[in-house]
Amino acid sequence: MQAGWHQFNVPRVVFGRGTLNKLPEEAALLGGKTAFLLSTPQQTDQLNVIRGLLAGSSVSVAGTFTEATMHTPTGITDKAIAALNAVATLSDNASSSTVIVSIGGGSTIGLGKAMSIRTGLAHICIPTSYAGSEMTPILGETADGRKTTRSDPRILPRTVLYDVDLTGSLPRTMRATSGINALAHAVEALYAQNSTPVVSAMAMEAVKSLSASLPALMADGDAAAEKKAQEDALYGAWLCGMCLGNVSMSIHHKLCHVLGGSFNLPHGETHTAVLPHSLSYVAPKIGSVMAKLAEAFPGSNGDAMTGLNGLLAQLPVKLALKDYGMKEEDIDKAADIALSQPYWSPRPLEREAIREVIRRIWAGEPAR
Ligand code: NAD
Repeated sequence: MQAGWHQFNVPRVVFGRGTLNKLPEEAALLGGKTAFLLSTPQQTDQLNVIRGLLAGSSVSVAGTFTEATMHTPTGITDKAIAALNAVATLSDNASSSTVIVSIGGGSTIGLGKAMSIRTGLAHICIPTSYAGSEMTPILGETADGRKTTRSDPRILPRTVLYDVDLTGSLPRTMRATSGINALAHAVEALYAQNSTPVVSAMAMEAVKSLSASLPALMADGDAAAEKKAQEDALYGAWLCGMCLGNVSMSIHHKLCHVLGGSFNLPHGETHTAVLPHSLSYVAPKIGSVMAKLAEAFPGSNGDAMTGLNGLLAQLPVKLALKDYGMKEEDIDKAADIALSQPYWSPRPLEREAIREVIRRIWAGEPAR
C-alpha cells in the first residue's frame, strides 16, 4: 500500500431495492420539513410517486419543477429557483428546512446541484441512470452556448438513494450507453495522475461488475438474471461515480467534453464511441493497467482491448459520431479545441494523432 494522504468526499448512500421509501426519513435526518422536487418532463411519473410517498409523512412537498435539461443551462436553473422562491422565501428560517430532491439522470442531478450551490439548501439525489454525477462535487453548466465546469465541495449532494427498481425503466440503449459512460470513469481512474491503490481497487471492482452485468441487462426472458444484473450494474455505477468524484480524469473525458460540449452530441453515446479509441491511444504508456483491465473483462483472452471491444459488441450501441450529427468538417475544430487546454494524459496529446483518433470516432472505424 502506497503511503500518503487519502481523503474521500462522498455523500451518505442508501443502496438497495425500494430505497425510495426511505426518502421521508432521509429528508428528516437533514432537518427537512418540506421538499422541492425536480425531474425532466420524461420522468414526471417517478416524481409523482415521490409526491405520493411524502403525502402524510412529516416532510411535505413545497413544490415541483419538471423541466430539467441536458447540460444544465443557467436559464433553466434561474427558472427553477424562481419556482422555489415562489414557495419558500430563501431568507426565512423556514427555507433551510427545505430540501431539494432530484430524481433522474445526470441532467436532473445537475439542476439539483446548481440550485443547491446557489441557495445553500441540502440536496438529496435519487439517480435513475448510471452516469454518476450524484457522487461528484463537479457541476457543468451552459450559458450563451458555452459549457463550463467547476468543482466545489459544497456541490456534492448530501444523500444519495440508489433504488435498483428505478433503473428497470431505462430504455435498453440507454442501459448500454449509460453503463459504458460509467465504465469510462473507472477505466480513467486506473491511470489517473493522482490515483491511489484504494481508488484503483474500487475501479477494478466497478469494471468487473459492469462488464459482467451490462450484457445480461440486454438478455430477454430471464427475469432472475436481469434482476441480478440490475443490482450489479447500479453497484458498479456507484463505484464508478466515486472514482469520478475522487481522482482527476484524463484524455477520455477531455475528448468527450470537447465533442459533447462543442457539437451538442448525446452524453452517454459519445462516451461509448470514444472509449475504445481513448484507451487504445494511451495503451502503450499504461502497460500494467492494461494487464489489470484484461483480468477484469470477461472474454479478453489476456488483452484489454479485445475485452472492451467484445463487451461493446454485445450491446445495442452505435460507434460512429457521424450517426449522431457530427459533421466531417468538425474533426479539425475538435482536434484544435482538445489541444488548446489538454488535461494531463499518460500519453501527451499529439495534434496529428489526436486528429486521426477523432476522425476514426467520427467514422466509426475500429480503434488501433
Ligand atoms: P439524462 O439525465 O440527460 O437522461 C436522458 C433521458 O433519460 C432523460 O429524458 C431522462 O429523463 C431519461 N431517464 C433517465 N433515467 C431514466 C429511467 N430510469 N427511466 C426512464 N427514463 C430515464 O442523461 P444522463 O446520461 O444520466 O446524464 C447526462 C448529463 O449528466 C450530462 O449533462 C452530463 O454532463 C451530466 N453528468 C455530470 C456529471 C458530473 O459529475 N457533474 C457526471 C456524469 C454526467
